[in-house]
Amino acid sequence: MSQVQIKSGQEIALMREAGRIVCEILDELEKAVAPGVTTWELDALAEKLIYEKGARPAFKGYHGFPACLCASVNDEVVHGIPSKRRKLEEGDLMKLDFGVVYRGYFGDSARTVAVGPVSAEAQALLDATREALRRGIQVMVPGNRIGDIGHAMQSFVEARGYSMVRDFTGHGIGRHLHEKPEVPSYGRPGDGMKLRPGMVLAVEPMVNQGTEEVEVLDDDWTAVTVDNKLSAHFEHTVLIGEGGPEILTRK
Ligand code: MG
Ligand code: MG
Repeated sequence: MSQVQIKSGQEIALMREAGRIVCEILDELEKAVAPGVTTWELDALAEKLIYEKGARPAFKGYHGFPACLCASVNDEVVHGIPSKRRKLEEGDLMKLDFGVVYRGYFGDSARTVAVGPVSAEAQALLDATREALRRGIQVMVPGNRIGDIGHAMQSFVEARGYSMVRDFTGHGIGRHLHEKPEVPSYGRPGDGMKLRPGMVLAVEPMVNQGTEEVEVLDDDWTAVTVDNKLSAHFEHTVLIGEGGPEILTRK
Protein backbone atom coordinates (compact mmCIF):
# COMPACT_ATOMS: atom_id res chain seq x y z
CA MET A 1 0.00 0.00 0.00
CA SER A 2 1.41 3.34 -0.96
CA GLN A 3 -0.64 5.41 1.46
CA VAL A 4 -1.73 5.19 5.05
CA GLN A 5 -5.32 3.96 5.12
CA ILE A 6 -7.91 5.46 7.42
CA LYS A 7 -10.47 2.74 8.06
CA SER A 8 -14.22 3.34 7.85
CA GLY A 9 -16.62 2.22 10.56
CA GLN A 10 -17.60 -0.79 8.48
CA GLU A 11 -13.99 -1.78 7.95
CA ILE A 12 -13.25 -1.41 11.64
CA ALA A 13 -16.19 -3.68 12.46
CA LEU A 14 -14.71 -6.37 10.20
CA MET A 15 -11.25 -5.88 11.67
CA ARG A 16 -12.70 -6.41 15.15
CA GLU A 17 -14.02 -9.75 13.91
CA ALA A 18 -10.68 -10.71 12.36
CA GLY A 19 -8.88 -9.69 15.54
CA ARG A 20 -11.24 -11.66 17.76
CA ILE A 21 -10.67 -14.79 15.65
CA VAL A 22 -6.88 -14.35 15.91
CA CYS A 23 -7.18 -14.04 19.69
CA GLU A 24 -9.46 -17.07 20.06
CA ILE A 25 -7.08 -19.24 18.03
CA LEU A 26 -4.02 -17.99 19.89
CA ASP A 27 -5.78 -18.89 23.15
CA GLU A 28 -6.18 -22.47 21.87
CA LEU A 29 -2.59 -22.64 20.63
CA GLU A 30 -1.32 -21.35 23.95
CA LYS A 31 -3.25 -24.10 25.77
CA ALA A 32 -1.73 -26.69 23.43
CA VAL A 33 1.87 -25.61 24.10
CA ALA A 34 3.52 -28.30 26.26
CA PRO A 35 6.71 -30.35 26.45
CA GLY A 36 6.70 -33.01 23.71
CA VAL A 37 4.43 -31.11 21.33
CA THR A 38 5.96 -30.30 17.93
CA THR A 39 5.66 -26.92 16.29
CA TRP A 40 4.16 -28.76 13.29
CA GLU A 41 1.29 -29.99 15.52
CA LEU A 42 0.62 -26.41 16.65
CA ASP A 43 0.48 -25.29 13.02
CA ALA A 44 -1.92 -28.11 12.13
CA LEU A 45 -4.18 -27.06 15.02
CA ALA A 46 -4.03 -23.43 13.86
CA GLU A 47 -5.01 -24.40 10.32
CA LYS A 48 -7.96 -26.52 11.49
CA LEU A 49 -9.28 -23.70 13.71
CA ILE A 50 -8.90 -21.06 10.99
CA TYR A 51 -11.25 -22.89 8.63
CA GLU A 52 -13.68 -23.79 11.42
CA LYS A 53 -14.07 -20.06 12.07
CA GLY A 54 -14.63 -19.20 8.42
CA ALA A 55 -11.34 -17.37 8.03
CA ARG A 56 -8.24 -17.99 5.92
CA PRO A 57 -4.57 -18.07 6.93
CA ALA A 58 -2.75 -14.76 6.59
CA PHE A 59 0.76 -16.17 6.47
CA LYS A 60 0.53 -19.38 4.42
CA GLY A 61 1.78 -18.56 0.94
CA TYR A 62 2.79 -15.02 1.93
CA HIS A 63 6.02 -14.56 -0.04
CA GLY A 64 6.10 -18.36 -0.05
CA PHE A 65 5.89 -18.91 3.73
CA PRO A 66 4.84 -22.57 4.06
CA ALA A 67 2.67 -22.51 7.21
CA CYS A 68 -0.21 -20.75 9.03
CA LEU A 69 1.84 -20.09 12.15
CA CYS A 70 5.27 -18.62 12.72
CA ALA A 71 6.72 -20.81 15.46
CA SER A 72 10.00 -19.53 16.88
CA VAL A 73 11.74 -21.11 19.87
CA ASN A 74 14.33 -19.62 22.26
CA ASP A 75 17.01 -17.80 20.19
CA GLU A 76 14.72 -17.82 17.15
CA VAL A 77 13.34 -14.30 17.01
CA VAL A 78 10.61 -14.54 14.40
CA HIS A 79 9.43 -16.38 11.23
CA GLY A 80 10.30 -19.87 12.51
CA ILE A 81 8.90 -22.57 10.22
CA PRO A 82 6.81 -25.24 12.01
CA SER A 83 8.51 -28.63 11.86
CA LYS A 84 7.79 -32.23 12.86
CA ARG A 85 11.38 -32.36 14.11
CA ARG A 86 10.99 -29.42 16.51
CA LYS A 87 9.67 -30.86 19.74
CA LEU A 88 9.12 -28.40 22.59
CA GLU A 89 10.99 -28.98 25.81
CA GLU A 90 10.39 -27.77 29.35
CA GLY A 91 12.10 -24.41 29.80
CA ASP A 92 11.66 -23.27 26.19
CA LEU A 93 10.33 -19.86 25.20
CA MET A 94 7.79 -20.45 22.43
CA LYS A 95 6.79 -17.54 20.22
CA LEU A 96 3.46 -17.90 18.46
CA ASP A 97 3.02 -15.31 15.71
CA PHE A 98 -0.28 -15.71 13.96
CA GLY A 99 -2.70 -13.98 11.61
CA VAL A 100 -5.89 -14.51 9.66
CA VAL A 101 -7.82 -12.79 6.91
CA TYR A 102 -11.56 -12.61 7.48
CA ARG A 103 -13.94 -11.18 4.88
CA GLY A 104 -11.03 -9.34 3.31
CA TYR A 105 -9.45 -7.93 6.47
CA PHE A 106 -6.35 -9.02 8.34
CA GLY A 107 -5.56 -9.47 12.01
CA ASP A 108 -2.03 -10.15 13.31
CA SER A 109 -0.87 -10.92 16.85
CA ALA A 110 1.97 -12.67 18.65
CA ARG A 111 2.63 -14.06 22.10
CA THR A 112 5.54 -15.62 23.89
CA VAL A 113 4.60 -18.68 25.93
CA ALA A 114 6.69 -20.39 28.59
CA VAL A 115 6.89 -24.16 28.06
CA GLY A 116 6.44 -25.48 31.58
CA PRO A 117 8.55 -23.72 34.19
CA VAL A 118 11.27 -21.55 32.60
CA SER A 119 14.34 -19.89 34.09
CA ALA A 120 13.86 -16.64 36.03
CA GLU A 121 15.84 -14.89 33.27
CA ALA A 122 13.54 -16.22 30.54
CA GLN A 123 10.42 -15.26 32.51
CA ALA A 124 11.77 -11.76 33.12
CA LEU A 125 12.43 -11.27 29.41
CA LEU A 126 8.92 -12.48 28.56
CA ASP A 127 7.35 -10.16 31.15
CA ALA A 128 9.40 -7.14 30.01
CA THR A 129 8.42 -7.68 26.37
CA ARG A 130 4.72 -7.92 27.21
CA GLU A 131 5.01 -4.79 29.35
CA ALA A 132 6.85 -2.96 26.55
CA LEU A 133 3.96 -3.66 24.19
CA ARG A 134 1.48 -2.43 26.81
CA ARG A 135 3.44 0.79 27.18
CA GLY A 136 3.67 1.24 23.42
CA ILE A 137 -0.08 0.81 23.03
CA GLN A 138 -0.77 3.24 25.86
CA VAL A 139 0.65 6.15 23.84
CA MET A 140 -1.31 5.30 20.68
CA VAL A 141 -3.61 8.30 20.97
CA PRO A 142 -4.51 10.78 18.22
CA GLY A 143 -1.94 13.53 17.96
CA ASN A 144 0.97 11.44 19.21
CA ARG A 145 3.48 10.22 16.64
CA ILE A 146 4.91 6.91 15.44
CA GLY A 147 8.18 7.68 17.23
CA ASP A 148 6.37 7.98 20.57
CA ILE A 149 5.29 4.33 20.31
CA GLY A 150 8.80 3.08 19.60
CA HIS A 151 10.33 5.31 22.25
CA ALA A 152 7.95 4.04 24.94
CA MET A 153 8.90 0.43 24.17
CA GLN A 154 12.63 0.88 23.52
CA SER A 155 13.30 3.00 26.60
CA PHE A 156 11.48 0.50 28.82
CA VAL A 157 13.42 -2.56 27.67
CA GLU A 158 16.82 -0.87 27.39
CA ALA A 159 16.50 0.38 30.98
CA ARG A 160 16.35 -3.31 31.94
CA GLY A 161 19.47 -4.22 29.99
CA TYR A 162 17.69 -5.78 27.00
CA SER A 163 17.94 -4.76 23.36
CA MET A 164 15.20 -4.05 20.83
CA VAL A 165 15.41 -5.79 17.46
CA ARG A 166 15.56 -3.26 14.61
CA ASP A 167 15.53 -5.55 11.55
CA PHE A 168 11.77 -6.12 11.81
CA THR A 169 9.09 -3.54 12.48
CA GLY A 170 5.40 -3.25 13.12
CA HIS A 171 3.14 -2.07 10.33
CA GLY A 172 -0.18 -0.73 9.20
CA ILE A 173 -2.73 -3.49 8.58
CA GLY A 174 -6.14 -3.77 6.93
CA ARG A 175 -6.95 -5.17 3.49
CA HIS A 176 -3.28 -6.16 3.38
CA LEU A 177 -1.16 -7.86 6.03
CA HIS A 178 1.51 -5.18 5.74
CA GLU A 179 0.49 -1.61 4.95
CA LYS A 180 2.02 1.79 5.51
CA PRO A 181 3.28 3.09 7.84
CA GLU A 182 6.17 1.14 9.31
CA VAL A 183 5.96 1.07 13.10
CA PRO A 184 9.47 0.60 14.50
CA SER A 185 9.76 -0.68 18.05
CA TYR A 186 12.40 1.98 18.68
CA GLY A 187 12.30 5.71 18.14
CA ARG A 188 12.44 9.23 19.44
CA PRO A 189 9.56 11.15 21.00
CA GLY A 190 7.82 13.43 18.50
CA ASP A 191 9.37 11.75 15.43
CA GLY A 192 7.46 10.40 12.48
CA MET A 193 3.91 10.47 11.26
CA LYS A 194 1.09 11.79 13.42
CA LEU A 195 -1.42 9.20 14.63
CA ARG A 196 -4.96 9.78 13.41
CA PRO A 197 -8.28 8.16 14.35
CA GLY A 198 -9.05 5.23 12.05
CA MET A 199 -5.47 4.09 11.61
CA VAL A 200 -4.93 0.43 12.44
CA LEU A 201 -1.38 -0.58 13.35
CA ALA A 202 0.25 -3.87 14.29
CA VAL A 203 2.77 -3.12 17.02
CA GLU A 204 5.29 -5.86 17.73
CA PRO A 205 8.33 -5.49 19.96
CA MET A 206 10.94 -8.25 19.63
CA VAL A 207 13.25 -8.03 22.60
CA ASN A 208 16.63 -9.76 22.96
CA GLN A 209 18.52 -10.74 26.08
CA GLY A 210 21.83 -9.89 24.42
CA THR A 211 22.68 -8.06 21.23
CA GLU A 212 19.90 -6.69 19.03
CA GLU A 213 21.59 -8.26 15.99
CA VAL A 214 19.79 -11.07 14.20
CA GLU A 215 20.55 -13.21 11.16
CA VAL A 216 18.36 -15.26 8.86
CA LEU A 217 19.09 -19.00 8.61
CA ASP A 218 19.58 -20.94 5.37
CA ASP A 219 15.85 -21.74 5.25
CA ASP A 220 15.48 -18.04 4.21
CA TRP A 221 12.93 -17.40 6.97
CA THR A 222 13.99 -18.16 10.52
CA ALA A 223 15.62 -15.13 12.15
CA VAL A 224 17.87 -15.95 15.12
CA THR A 225 19.90 -13.87 17.54
CA VAL A 226 23.55 -13.83 16.43
CA ASP A 227 24.70 -14.52 20.03
CA ASN A 228 22.11 -17.34 20.44
CA LYS A 229 20.65 -15.67 23.51
CA LEU A 230 16.90 -15.62 24.10
CA SER A 231 14.37 -13.43 22.35
CA ALA A 232 10.72 -12.65 23.13
CA HIS A 233 7.93 -11.21 20.96
CA PHE A 234 4.46 -9.81 21.59
CA GLU A 235 2.16 -8.20 19.04
CA HIS A 236 -1.32 -6.72 18.86
CA THR A 237 -3.35 -5.19 16.08
CA VAL A 238 -4.50 -1.82 17.47
CA LEU A 239 -7.02 0.76 16.28
CA ILE A 240 -6.31 4.42 16.97
CA GLY A 241 -9.73 5.47 18.25
CA GLU A 242 -10.93 9.03 18.83
CA GLY A 243 -10.53 8.44 22.54
CA GLY A 244 -7.42 6.27 22.45
CA PRO A 245 -6.20 2.82 21.49
CA GLU A 246 -8.45 -0.19 21.05
CA ILE A 247 -6.75 -3.58 20.91
CA LEU A 248 -8.48 -5.55 18.16
CA THR A 249 -6.67 -8.85 18.72
CA ARG A 250 -8.30 -9.33 22.09
CA LYS A 251 -11.68 -10.73 23.11
MG1 MG B 1 2.65 -11.10 13.46
MG1 MG C 1 2.98 -8.18 12.24
